[in-house]
Amino acid sequence: MESLEHSDSQRAERISQTSADAHKSTYNVPIMRSSEGYTKPDPKELERHLHSLRRFHFAGHGAEFGVQSSSVGGYIPALLASYWNVSPVRYDYPLILYLDTAAQSPRCQSLDLFLRDQISGLAQARDGMRILADNIGRVERFVQKSLDRDQQLIPTLPLLLEAVGPLEAELQLSEENNRRLRGDFDALLARVPKDSYLLGFGDLAHFQLMGWVSHQVCLLRYTRFMGEVDSLKSQLERLLKIERTKDETSRYPEALSHSVGSALASEVNFGQLSRLLGKHRGTLQMSQERRKRIEGVLDVLNDFLCKFKPIPISLFCDSGHSDLTALPVAHWQINIFEQPVTKALGYFEQLAAEWAGLFRAVRIAHLEIEDGYVVGYHDIWFDQFDWSAFSREEVLLLPSVVVAQTLEGVAHSELHALTRLLLSGYPVHAMISQPSVRNFGVDADGDPLCGGHFELGYLGISQREALIHQTTAARPAHLLKGWSAALDTTRPSLHVFPTTERANLSPLQKWLYQGAMLEGRAHPLFLYEPDRGRSWAQCFEFGDNPQPDSDWPYSELACKDDREQDGSVSLSFTFADIALLDPSSHRHFYEIPDGIDEQLVVAVPDYLAMSAEQALRKIPYIWAVGADHRLRRLAISRALLLTCHQRLRFWHTLQELAGVHNEYVLQAIEREREQLTLAHQAELVTLHADYAAQLEQVRAQAVSEAMQRLASVLLQSDWHAGMIPSMTSFPMAGAEILSVAQDSMRDQAEAPVVAASVETEAAEDDALSFDDPWVDSILCTSCNDCIKINSRLFVYNEKKQARIGDASAGTYAELVRAAENCPARCIHTGKPLNPDEPNLAALLKRAKPYK
Ligand code: SF4
Repeated sequence: MESLEHSDSQRAERISQTSADAHKSTYNVPIMRSSEGYTKPDPKELERHLHSLRRFHFAGHGAEFGVQSSSVGGYIPALLASYWNVSPVRYDYPLILYLDTAAQSPRCQSLDLFLRDQISGLAQARDGMRILADNIGRVERFVQKSLDRDQQLIPTLPLLLEAVGPLEAELQLSEENNRRLRGDFDALLARVPKDSYLLGFGDLAHFQLMGWVSHQVCLLRYTRFMGEVDSLKSQLERLLKIERTKDETSRYPEALSHSVGSALASEVNFGQLSRLLGKHRGTLQMSQERRKRIEGVLDVLNDFLCKFKPIPISLFCDSGHSDLTALPVAHWQINIFEQPVTKALGYFEQLAAEWAGLFRAVRIAHLEIEDGYVVGYHDIWFDQFDWSAFSREEVLLLPSVVVAQTLEGVAHSELHALTRLLLSGYPVHAMISQPSVRNFGVDADGDPLCGGHFELGYLGISQREALIHQTTAARPAHLLKGWSAALDTTRPSLHVFPTTERANLSPLQKWLYQGAMLEGRAHPLFLYEPDRGRSWAQCFEFGDNPQPDSDWPYSELACKDDREQDGSVSLSFTFADIALLDPSSHRHFYEIPDGIDEQLVVAVPDYLAMSAEQALRKIPYIWAVGADHRLRRLAISRALLLTCHQRLRFWHTLQELAGVHNEYVLQAIEREREQLTLAHQAELVTLHADYAAQLEQVRAQAVSEAMQRLASVLLQSDWHAGMIPSMTSFPMAGAEILSVAQDSMRDQAEAPVVAASVETEAAEDDALSFDDPWVDSILCTSCNDCIKINSRLFVYNEKKQARIGDASAGTYAELVRAAENCPARCIHTGKPLNPDEPNLAALLKRAKPYK
């Protein structure tokens, strides 16, 4: 089933656009007074104000304490300032309701969007339809006024036709333009579905919408079912007819004549024909018992086809719901009883028993047509056949049974009956209206915040077996989503609606008021469908609320300062803002006098987020705007603050059920994060250890290599010729090498045999290497100086440290220059390869320190 074809964001865009239009003509941007914008009261006066404010906050309304409580009747919440004048505001309503014949599904759409869609579809073929397009809002306003007056479902075409005259009178067009307007209007009307209806917003809007949708759904289901019953009836009649031909008497001349008809009576000799047919015509005849059973089924099917009139909804309510008698009789059958929930349960049992007879007949018909009826089994089965054996399709064919009750009515006398209903498994739907601002058990003229709020929807969820739907007609898309689900389930359902409790409001004001209840978390939307799955996440839907992730919805309010400079302020819409819309709650507000220390007052959302210590001595407030369009802060009483706190806690519960800021999820995330951090730290420790081990290995290897070369040098040198001090000239690892060298020397002294051996090996090495130039690569700093002198004589190894490449590719002079330039002093010149090189004597002298 299709519901509204536009989203909340589209609505918000349209409303804000409309509001923006309204701003241009009627909306005065509120003024935020700066601290210089008033005369500072005398400190003693200020102290007295503060005292009064505190007494008001803690003690309540305060008149008995001598507090001069200001009247806040002229204020509205600051975020509703743009709705001070609501007349230019346009919204979802009127709705157009029609059956999409292609999809075989009921559809609802805002009339405004529907008409604009049709015009844009026609515009290209009709030269833009500019006049009608520009003035379609006038048509909509005319329709809206008619619907506000009648509060009924009205057929679309006649009402739109009525709008043409006033439109022409308002526009006063030329004859030519008037003719074009008429032509365009006729084209538009031709696209309006014939059996469509218009619905305006009002106290019964949810009943009317639900009734119309049920009617359409039932008609579609019954049409299909009656086709099935008709087909079964025909097949059973054919079966009996065939059976009759198997009867011996059917070959008698009279029976033959009867079956052929009178037209051939003079042409055929039926006596002769009877003798020709003989005694053996036909096969086995069905049993008397079966024939009787089929005839009985046929009686039931015929009775249903002749007498059935679809009644989509049987509505049970008490005498306090006399307004419901205004609902269309085509959609609703009203039954008034003092205990409607109890009565509805009894009625369903009776209804189910009646329909069990029909469904039994249909099932037997199917079996008989397929010759599948087994007496020994099916007789017992059908003897016990009642609603609990109904298939899903059969349950959905039952006329809907609905109970309308108030929360007070349920709580005072039928809470047990409602619980029974929710656990019964009967597809009975309860529509309960619930005051959203006033707490449970408070009289209309009592303080609405006494006691606590009864969350009936939440109570319903706790039963787990029924579809639970907390909704409002102000959000028809959400209403239809839940109602469509209820019409498609075999379970009971509970639908909780808010009551406006302000009879003197216009439909638009009521719509705004109900919308504000959603914003202020007074009546959160949710839908719990147990059929959707096994987990809460699958069954519970909560995302249709404004800003579901936040405690309170917030938005920017455009304002001006005393010098007409534009600015804005970010505000949240809280339950206290809703309470300000309810005159019976005005005793819980007190205008904060100018000059009060800013540190002592705090906005309600911030106050609720504070710890008890932080909130100590502070006074919570909301922003409001008065008839002078000035923004003022209104302190709220402690009772109202506690109610805000309760509503916020309930909101948090719903958020958690929906997985928003769910503590279990947050804890699981935290646990996972801790485990990941620990794993990461462990990995880091391992990496550090590996790195340190590798480093140590490289270092040990480097020292070992250096020591081997050093040992070579030492073993070739005179120990006592001052060699050890010269080791300090090694720029890298000098200390380690020195230490190792000293160890080596000590070892040598202690172990002459080993030293002799090393000396022998060193002598061999010297014989091999010290005539040739070489580079102590491990000490090379990769400065590139030697490479620049001769890039063939010096090359880099794989670690980018220099070594001798082709010793014959350079001169001894280049070798000596490189050795002299080398900052690491790691180039060793060896002996000249070319004894004829010029200036060799001088070069050998310079090379002496680098051999
Ligand atoms: S001059 Fe010395 S330190 Fe520089 S790259 Fe050549 S060998 Fe290495």
